[in-house]
Amino acid sequence: MNSRFPPNILESRDVLSVLSRFLHPRAVSDIQDWEVRSLGMTANEFTQAAQAAGLLFPLDLKSQIEAKATLVDLRARCKSLGIRQSGSKTEVSTRLLAADPDGMAGVYGHEPLLGLSNAASAAVHDWERRRNNAHEAAQAACFASLKFGNLHASALAVAEFELFTGQSIGLWSSSSKDIGSTIERLEHIFRVKPTILGNQSEDTWSALRYAACMLALWGETDGERWLEGTIPNGRLSAEVAVRMVLFAASSTKELSDALQFTPNAVVSIDSVRDHRTCPSCKKASRMRFALSSVPEIPNPNCSCEDGCRCAYQFGTE
Ligand SMILES: [Zn+2]
Repeated sequence: MNSRFPPNILESRDVLSVLSRFLHPRAVSDIQDWEVRSLGMTANEFTQAAQAAGLLFPLDLKSQIEAKATLVDLRARCKSLGIRQSGSKTEVSTRLLAADPDGMAGVYGHEPLLGLSNAASAAVHDWERRRNNAHEAAQAACFASLKFGNLHASALAVAEFELFTGQSIGLWSSSSKDIGSTIERLEHIFRVKPTILGNQSEDTWSALRYAACMLALWGETDGERWLEGTIPNGRLSAEVAVRMVLFAASSTKELSDALQFTPNAVVSIDSVRDHRTCPSCKKASRMRFALSSVPEIPNPNCSCEDGCRCAYQFGTE
């Protein structure tokens, strides 16, 4: 195992990604082994090597108290010691450390928090700035490609950004890394016109689909941002409308997969049931259908405020 870093370690994107977790001081146990697996180290080995290289250092006790305790906790401790409780967190911790150093070390001193050295902090900030710039440029290229109908280029823009950061993003990043299946999923988005959204102009449908593709590709939730001012008709908010397009695309994909691979499946509808679930979705929940006669999801008659939350459950009978 590597227990030392090479001298140009701050040029390594994988190291910088892990170090960025320490922008707020953390304990070693906050870092999981899988986060450093690409470096061929355990979390423990990483933090030791980073300390040896002067990138991470353990916070002094006073900084640890300030990072771990709330002011309310500290005041309660003052009270039990019979000392003055007033002042800022820094003042109160200084006073407590003077009055009861062993007690404070006992409570806050184990599992020391690690923080970034100045050099490491500068390198992490620089890396984050470069990553944010690349993210913005890749998203703009991806969005333009979608508008040109070039799904391949839009999927490539995401893949290239993932290569740059070494991290997977997007809805389908973990299940499938091949561009072909990503494009197939985007094509589903371009095909749907969920009834729940009623009548929209063709321009609005296009805008909703571009936005839904961006959410799917980039694993984001703010669909309204990608509508660029387009306001869909109807009672649902822009953000929900985009989500319903994405939802319709994934449910039609599920159905077409089932028709292809398990044509004898029986489908039931499973709805999230809570105080926000509308009567129509409640009624649909638990009904069973043959694959050929399954109703549309999102439920066209749904009146849930945040959109339909029904899902297909495939089984055999
Ligand atoms: Zn509903």
